[in-house]
Amino acid sequence: MRLLLIEDSPTLRERLREWLAARGWSVDEAADGAAALGYLDAYDYPLVLLDLGLPRVDGLDVLRHLRSAGSRARVLVLSARDQVADRVEALNRGADDYLVKPFSFEELASRILALMRRSLDAAPPLLVAGALEVDPAVRIARVDGEPLALTPKEYLLLETLLRGRGRVHARAALFESLYDARSDASDKVIEVLVSTLRAKLARAGLSELIETRRGFGYLVR
Ligand code: CA
Repeated sequence: MRLLLIEDSPTLRERLREWLAARGWSVDEAADGAAALGYLDAYDYPLVLLDLGLPRVDGLDVLRHLRSAGSRARVLVLSARDQVADRVEALNRGADDYLVKPFSFEELASRILALMRRSLDAAPPLLVAGALEVDPAVRIARVDGEPLALTPKEYLLLETLLRGRGRVHARAALFESLYDARSDASDKVIEVLVSTLRAKLARAGLSELIETRRGFGYLVR
C-alpha cells in the first residue's frame, strides 16, 4: 500500500521511509506543506503521516485542505507539539490519531495497524443505480463494470447525489459540501461540474441519470 509521509526533517524522513518500506509500504515523501498539497491533489492515499511544523504551508492547513477536498485518508499526526490543545485542534480538524515526538517505532507500528483496521471496518458499501456502480472505498465509479474517468470533484458530486438518491440537492448545498469555504469559486461551478459529469455519463450511456429541478437543484432518482 502507498502512503504519504509529510516531514521536513530529512533525518527523520529518511529513517521513517526506510522503516516503512521495510514493512511493505511504498512511500511518497513531501518535505513541506506545499509539496504535500500537490501529492494529495494527485493521489488518494489510505494513510498520511503528517508533521505539523512545516515550511510553506503549516500541517494544520494541509489537514484542513485534505478534509475539505473530501479525502478519507487516515491521518496520523507526528508532532513535537505536545500540548493538549494541539492534539484537540488536530483531532477537531480531522486527524485520526496523534503521536508526540519523539516516539518509539514500536508505538508507531501499533498506531498504524489500528488505523488500517479501522479503515477496513469502515469500508462503505457500494452505491448502485442501474448500470452505475460507485465504490466509495476506492472512489471509483463504473458503468457496466467499466471505470469512468472522473475528476475528484466530479466523483464527489456523483457520490453525493447517489447517497441522497430521490432527494433534490440545492446548488448552494452541493457547493458547500464540495468546496472549501475559503475558496474563491462561486456556486456557479456546480453547474459546470454537473455538465461535465453529465457529458461523461452520457458517453457511457447514462444521459438521463442526473435530473435538473429548475430553481431547486439536481437529483438522481
Ligand atoms: Ca517539522
